[in-house]
Formats: sequence, structure tokens, C-alpha cells
Amino acid sequence: MSLDDVISELRRRGHGLIVVDGTLRHIGPPLADDDPMRTGIEAHRTLLTELFTFAPGGRCEEAACYRLRVPGGAHCPDHRQPRDAMTEPRPARVP
Ligand SMILES: [Zn+2]
Repeated sequence: MSLDDVISELRRRGHGLIVVDGTLRHIGPPLADDDPMRTGIEAHRTLLTELFTFAPGGRCEEAACYRLRVPGGAHCPDHRQPRDAMTEPRPARVP
């Protein structure tokens, strides 16, 4: 099941996904253990978690990418641009 299939199936059934304390949660009638949507959600859990996470700082500027930005950057880790690295906070030095 592709990511688009999961989203379409959620919409078709009227189910939803939310992120609570960084964990993806399904909203709707419980899914059977052998429900293909359960497998689909598990297969795309990382991306779905990013997709349903509140992102007041915006999302990756790459076209059609919904991933969260790296801290201080304008792109996700997959589309990281050189200028993102320049704006990222540097780790504190240990004396
Ligand atoms: Zn991206």
C-alpha cells in the first residue's frame, strides 16, 4: 500500500491520524489485526508522523515534499541545501 493509498483509504473510511507527544495515533473504529491499512500505516509510519505533526516553522521547500525542516533550515534532511547547514546552530563546545 503506497502512502497515497493510505491517505485515500483513511479519507474513504472517515478515519484520521494524529500525533500525540511524537507518537502517531489512529482515530476511528479499531482496525483488525489483518487490515491492510494497519500494514500501510506501519510501512509509512515515519513519514506519516512528520506529515501529521504541527509544523509552525513550515515544511521542506522542495516541491511535493511534506517533511519537517531541519532546525534553522528550509529543507528536510533528504533535501538539505548548503545554506541550511550554514544557518543550523552549532553544537556547544565542551571545555
Ligand atoms: Zn524535503
